[in-house]
Amino acid sequence: MTTPGEQMQADVLAILRRRNVALSAYKVLEALRDAHPKIAPPAVYRALSSLTSKGQAHRVESLKAYVACQSKVHASASILSICESCGYVEEHLAGEVVEAVSHVVAETGFSSQHHVIEVHGICAACNARMPAPEGVGAGGSPQ
Ligand SMILES: [Zn+2]
Ligand SMILES: [Zn+2]
Repeated sequence: MTTPGEQMQADVLAILRRRNVALSAYKVLEALRDAHPKIAPPAVYRALSSLTSKGQAHRVESLKAYVACQSKVHASASILSICESCGYVEEHLAGEVVEAVSHVVAETGFSSQHHVIEVHGICAACNARMPAPEGVGAGGSPQ
């Protein structure tokens, strides 16, 4: 038995898995409209929050968007690298880094509950396509 909620989660996850690019809830909603013409935003938000709480998807806080989890269910937070050029989001598992961050903040008595580690930059594929950045303004063009 699949409940309508579970079916919606499966459909949302399928959309997120199509490409490793972060999608906003609105983009997910638009993509779902083909299969579910009458879909309402709360149904999408509910599905996204269930998927993130189960670890099947992750919220990219700095983009206010979502990606499918790229590895098996993992115990510690993952590090997300986000390509500023093509939007490719890659998930890196480095529990020791997350632990190190916890240690740093613990020095002032802070106890961590939830880590968000997101790195913005240029992915390997885009780096390979781009000319060497010598002499070009490091700020990048506004395209
Ligand atoms: Zn993950
Ligand atoms: Zn890229």
